[in-house]
Amino acid sequence: MKHTPTPAGLAALEAQLAQDLEFLELPAKPWVPRQMHDGLPVRDVVVIGAGMCGLAATAKLVLTGITNVVAYDAAPAGLEGPWVTFARMQTLRSPKTLNGPSLGLPQLTFRAWFTAQWGVEAWQSLDKIPRVQWMEYLIWYRKVLDLPVRNSVRMTGVAPVDDLIAIDVEGSETGRVLTRHLVLATGRSGLGGFAVPDFLKGIDRTYLAHSADNIDFDALKGKRVAVIGAGASSMDNAATALEAGAGSVDMLIRRKEMPRINKLTGIGSQGVVHGIYHLPDAWKWKFFDYTASTQTPPPRSSTLRVSRHPNARFLLDCGIVSVEQDAEGLLVETTQGPMRFDFLIAATGFSNDFSDRPEFAAIAPHIRTWSDGRYTPDMGPPRAGMSEAPDLGPAFEFRERVPGSCPMLSHIHCFNDAAMLTHGKVSGDIPAVSAGADRLVRGITASLFAEDVETHFANLIAYDIPELLGDEWADSTPLLQKEAVQ
Ligand SMILES: Cc1cc2nc3c(=O)[nH]c(=O)nc-3n(C[C@H](O)[C@H](O)[C@H](O)COP(=O)(O)OP(=O)(O)OC[C@H]3O[C@@H](n4cnc5c(N)ncnc54)[C@H](O)[C@@H]3O)c2cc1C
Repeated sequence: MKHTPTPAGLAALEAQLAQDLEFLELPAKPWVPRQMHDGLPVRDVVVIGAGMCGLAATAKLVLTGITNVVAYDAAPAGLEGPWVTFARMQTLRSPKTLNGPSLGLPQLTFRAWFTAQWGVEAWQSLDKIPRVQWMEYLIWYRKVLDLPVRNSVRMTGVAPVDDLIAIDVEGSETGRVLTRHLVLATGRSGLGGFAVPDFLKGIDRTYLAHSADNIDFDALKGKRVAVIGAGASSMDNAATALEAGAGSVDMLIRRKEMPRINKLTGIGSQGVVHGIYHLPDAWKWKFFDYTASTQTPPPRSSTLRVSRHPNARFLLDCGIVSVEQDAEGLLVETTQGPMRFDFLIAATGFSNDFSDRPEFAAIAPHIRTWSDGRYTPDMGPPRAGMSEAPDLGPAFEFRERVPGSCPMLSHIHCFNDAAMLTHGKVSGDIPAVSAGADRLVRGITASLFAEDVETHFANLIAYDIPELLGDEWADSTPLLQKEAVQ
């Protein structure tokens, strides 16, 4: 990393951030009345997941004066999200200038963090953000805001307790936690799991991995590897296998052509960020159906990282018909004929199928999805991955499939990728996560305030600290009477 002579350093940045927060009177003063239930403390909000979305949501809550909050993450500190676990790209796809989770605070941006340490020249010569460095920035973000995050704690269940939500946690904290609102910032795989095509069901894991699995790439040295898909993760996994010495890597791509245009990113604007949510449903469907059909291309650099290897092949129009395992490995029947491989990596994405996750067993049957009436056939053909998207309210809250069947859903907020069809891309990717956190926290704020309205009104009545002491004026009315007599 190139150092310029006088970067201000992180301490100076942190001092500037502290001053900005003070000038803006942030964090706002706590204002939510504390609740107890049967002698147990009740959280105002519990956030599950302390990846980028969970951190942004937690920070926004705290800055808004909702401080009785905790975020839990199953991962150990510093290993949240995909960045240093299963993400295998060298740099982020996102442009370095995006303000990400900075919540409108310039000193909280990646750019401020970077230039404070390495200077403006280094910033100018930086192309894309190195993947690991993005994680380092998120670690700093959490630290500098002193966010209430507890790691190595997994949420394993949700249940209603009167009008509260009880969550079960396991790990470095174990037991039941009561909360008024629950935010699921559980990431791309957080509501469902890995999407694995039917033709791979039953294949032994010694021959097969999902791109988000922990893969032993050294074990692929000299092996014939196939990667299914043509997205970013396909390229990253193929490149990692090639760099680890795989004998050959075939990219099995069903499409006749590689997707080449990043449509939704191309039209990115504040209009898209704030406008999609307010569009009629037919328009939301149209936008996301079109982008799903055109698909997001892999980044150019990731594709070149694969194609520079002579033992990599891009096999287009190569759909998979069936996969069988035998003594020689895998026999893959494709639309281009049979092929033999030793190992297959399915870069086939994630699903929003709540029933895949035991921690959501209690709520999954009650969650209303787009297929429960929000989607209508006049919007276009149904599309897997969209039809089962949750039908969310304005604060990302779930809705009940049958009214009255699971009232706590109105206090469970789906702040993750699954919200996209209802809310646009504001709860999953770097570009608009601050806007998403703002929308989420405004909704939670309104809900908490309305539910406590009697207490707030009682506080209004009880408030009795005078601004005027009584010695600032004299009543002139007697003078009027005197004037009238004269
Ligand atoms: C390989 C890959 C590369 C990507 N590259 C980019 C990129 O370049 N630019 C971009 O904008 N986006 C990128 N993304 C999208 C990326 O997922 C998001 O930008 C970012 O990670 C979203 O943050 P998140 O908080 O929603 O999810 P995550 O970062 O995935 O965090 C979710 C957290 O929830 C925790 N969790 C889940 N379930 C539980 C539970 N039951 N109990 C406790 N904790 C739980 C997990 O441990 C995890 O830490 C990429 C995604 C992948 C998979």
